[in-house]
Amino acid sequence: MPATCCAVQCSHNAKNCKLKRFPVNEVRAKVWEQMLRRKNFTRKSFHRICACHFPKSQYDDINESRLRPDAVPLVFPTHTINQCESLDEPTLVSIFNLMV
Ligand SMILES: [Zn+2]
Ligand SMILES: [Zn+2]
Repeated sequence: MPATCCAVQCSHNAKNCKLKRFPVNEVRAKVWEQMLRRKNFTRKSFHRICACHFPKSQYDDINESRLRPDAVPLVFPTHTINQCESLDEPTLVSIFNLMV
């Protein structure tokens, strides 16, 4: 099956977006899972989150296509999106409660 983004209301795939793997670090992977806010979500090795869910601040300063080592997906659509470019007003979800 083709890999698609596992975020709610996002069906981006490797053809129309860049897919990111979950972090190897289990603690960080759990944070990503929580950010998805999907009920009964069981992470599998094929799960990916697309680049749309990461604001610029989560990317490496030098290599802008790379995520920071501590990057967390923050941008999730509140409506159906078809293209990355249509995310003009991303919804920022606070992660601070998850990090303490
Ligand atoms: Zn996505
Ligand atoms: Zn995307």
